[in-house]
Amino acid sequence: DLEIAIKVVIVGNGAVGKSSMIQRYCKGTFTKEYKKTIGVDFLERQITTGGEEVRLMLWDTAGQEEFDAITKAYYRGAQACVVAFSTTDRDSFSAVRKWKKKVEDECGSIPMVLVQNKIDLIDQATVKPDEVESLAREMRMRLYRTSVKEDLNVEQVFNFLVERYLAI
Ligand code: GDP
Ligand code: MG
Repeated sequence: DLEIAIKVVIVGNGAVGKSSMIQRYCKGTFTKEYKKTIGVDFLERQITTGGEEVRLMLWDTAGQEEFDAITKAYYRGAQACVVAFSTTDRDSFSAVRKWKKKVEDECGSIPMVLVQNKIDLIDQATVKPDEVESLAREMRMRLYRTSVKEDLNVEQVFNFLVERYLAI
């Protein structure tokens, strides 16, 4: 039978925790300083859902997002997307619409999810829960609050994307 492989892109401002999320989900580890392994475009993880074997390929950037210089190759063929921002970085929240539009311009309409990461730092929050919720509602995106550090809700994000993808 055919194996299902899904290319997932993770977008958002620098330092919101994208690389950490990929590392957490695929390797089960968390570090203070994650550096993309040179020469590796993505990490993968295989899961079984509803009897289907699914291979998720999580594509990382090498920090190009900070210079608004993500290449077309990064987006090419993406089938699902995480738009991430940080609880402690208001600019990253303000950039969410821009990131969503970028992905839609490059990939069309693909399953997407909104992720508020670093929820463990809620004491230092620069965004209010209700403004996050209204943005999610307005953009018609499912919202997950995650802590990659504490391993909170990370699996749920990718399970949701897989379910959405398989439902198409
Ligand atoms: P990227 O630029 O979006 O890829 O972000 P990184 O994955 O490099 O993470 C930036 C910094 O945030 C690193 O020091 C991470 O250890 C830290 N970080 C990532 N996720 C979390 C989290 O959930 N909570 C906390 N407290 N720190 C996090
Ligand atoms: Mg990174």
